[in-house]
Amino acid sequence: MYRHIVLLGAPGAGKGTQADALVKTLGVPHIASGDLFRDHQSRGTELGVLARSYMERGELVPDDVTIRMVEERLTREDARVGFALDGFPRTLEQARALDRVLVRQGRCVDMVIYIRVPEEELERRLGGRWLCGTCQAPYHVVFSPPRRVGVCDRCGGELFQRADDAPETVRQRLSVYLGQTLPLIQYYKGMGKLVEVDGSRPIEEVTRDVLARVSQNGD
Ligand code: ADP
Ligand code: ADP
Ligand code: ZN
Repeated sequence: MYRHIVLLGAPGAGKGTQADALVKTLGVPHIASGDLFRDHQSRGTELGVLARSYMERGELVPDDVTIRMVEERLTREDARVGFALDGFPRTLEQARALDRVLVRQGRCVDMVIYIRVPEEELERRLGGRWLCGTCQAPYHVVFSPPRRVGVCDRCGGELFQRADDAPETVRQRLSVYLGQTLPLIQYYKGMGKLVEVDGSRPIEEVTRDVLARVSQNGD
C-alpha cells in the first residue's frame, strides 16, 4: 500500500470526502490545511487571525506560514506511518517545501491523486456543502445528506456551512486554483507520481477507484 498520499483537486472536488476513506483503509491521519487554519481561527491564535483575512477573500494564505504549520503537523507521531494530505500543497513553492521536509525525514510522497471534476459541478457541490463543527466530516444536502438534518452521523456534532462557500468567494477560489494550484499537476506528472481519477461520479465509485490505486503495489 502507498501511505504518503497527496490529494489534489479544485475546491469541492471531494478531497476531504476521499481522504476519510483513506484514513479508514490505510490508518493514516487526514491532514487538511484548511482544517488546521480553521482550528487556529476557533482558538483565536495569531495565525488564525492572519489566515482569516485571506480565507474570507478566497485567497491563499502566504506560503511561509502555511508551510511552517503543515511541517509542524507532519512531524507529529501519528504522521510517521504516512498521511492523506488534503489542500496542501497548493503552490509550487509548497510542493518543493514538502519534498524537502520529507527528504529530511527519509521519506517522500508516494502518490498524488488528482480528483478531476468539471467546474459547473464544483459550484453545485460547494453550494450544498455542510461540515461537522466537531469532527469536520463533510456532507451534502443532496449528494451525501446526514441521517438527521443539521446533525453529524459520526459524532452528533452540529453541521455548519462555510462562509467562503458563498458563490462570489467560490469563484475567486476557483480562479486561484487555476492559476496557482493547477501547475502542480505538471510538477507531479514529471515525477511520475500523478494518478488521475474521474471525480464526477458518485462518491462510492470514486472511493473504489482511489482505494484501488493506493493498493496497487501489494503489501
Ligand atoms: P474538497 O475537500 O475537495 O473541497 P469535499 O470532500 O468537502 O471537497 O466535497 C465537497 C462537497 O461535495 C461536499 O458537500 C461533499 O459531500 C460533496 N461530494 C464530495 N464528493 C462527491 C461526489 N463524488 N459526488 C457528489 N458530491 C460529492
Ligand atoms: P477546499 O476544501 O474547499 O478546497 P480548504 O478548506 O482546503 O478548501 O481551504 C480553505 C481556505 O484555506 C483556502 O481558500 C485558503 O484561503 C486557505 N488554505 C487552505 N490550504 C491552503 C494552502 N495550502 N495554502 C494557502 N492557503 C490555504
Ligand atoms: Zn462529526
